[in-house]
Amino acid sequence: MKRTNDVLVIGSVAFDAIETPFGKTDKIIGGAATYISLAASYLNRAGKTHLVGIVGDDFPQSGLDMFAEKGIDTKGLEIKEGGKTFFWSGKYHNDMNSRDTLVTELNVLAEFDPVLPEEYRSIPYLMLGNLEPRIQKSVIEQMEVRPELIVMDTMDFWIDSFRDDLLETLKLVDVISINDEEARQLSGEYSLVKASRKILAMGPKVVVIKKGEHGALLFNDHQVYFAPALPLEDVFDPTGAGDTFAGGFIGHLANVGGTEFDEMKRAILFGSALASFCVEKFGLERLENLSGEEISGRLREFIDLVQIDMEFV
Ligand code: AMP
Repeated sequence: MKRTNDVLVIGSVAFDAIETPFGKTDKIIGGAATYISLAASYLNRAGKTHLVGIVGDDFPQSGLDMFAEKGIDTKGLEIKEGGKTFFWSGKYHNDMNSRDTLVTELNVLAEFDPVLPEEYRSIPYLMLGNLEPRIQKSVIEQMEVRPELIVMDTMDFWIDSFRDDLLETLKLVDVISINDEEARQLSGEYSLVKASRKILAMGPKVVVIKKGEHGALLFNDHQVYFAPALPLEDVFDPTGAGDTFAGGFIGHLANVGGTEFDEMKRAILFGSALASFCVEKFGLERLENLSGEEISGRLREFIDLVQIDMEFV
């Protein structure tokens, strides 16, 4: 079967416990791949979203039902009998732009060594969520047809302690999507323009740098584009915003079958629009319940935000 618009997502599926100045949650469903696949499924109406990950048998049926309701294929989600699902806990500071990780219990993720189902090996849009770089690379190597677009995310932990593996994976991807602090850490440059140049030299053709409430920058070797974040009155919980952004980005590209820089400009607006929903409530609460009208209404707000009529004299 031809899968011209399908998206393959790999990453953590988790329990999260989150604390923000607005309150705290007990263990709720989270994980990078959860946010990514949900966001991608909203935007990619032309194809299907397939999820590869691992959970323990403590993962609730309601979580699996949520994926099914969104049309997300979980054939690649391994349920490890007797295993415990990955657990992450974080606490946000008052400005909501920074957080401390309180707990990371890898549990079943520690032994995760995914083997892609045969029919996933020719999916054209591959999103490598935040995971050990060695696993990200193994997924790329299992693809029988080189995907049209490979996007990867990573985090400070991997940049610090698994740098060599990360550099190997970076050589194989088209786009890296990271936040400003991670870009600085990876490149050793404070200026994001210089940082992007150094990261481009590591392999990717495009670098997306997310700046939280200050929007996102898109670089290739000769162009730069900027998308703002929607100014929101309250940011309730930023968890998963970066993953939602990435899911929206690849979901849009898959939907239109595009990989060009100009299409990526639109894709970062789609990603920003979905991320703006994600932060409005705790965890997945807002992202789980979105209508098509809400998404198009928010995109309109974004278009209004970036449009201006002016004459140049
Ligand atoms: P974000 O807020 O976009 O950075 O992503 C938050 C999500 O990343 C949470 O739902 C966590 O479950 C997940 N996460 C946190 N640490 C890790 C890690 N070391 N590996 C994989 N996923 C993680």
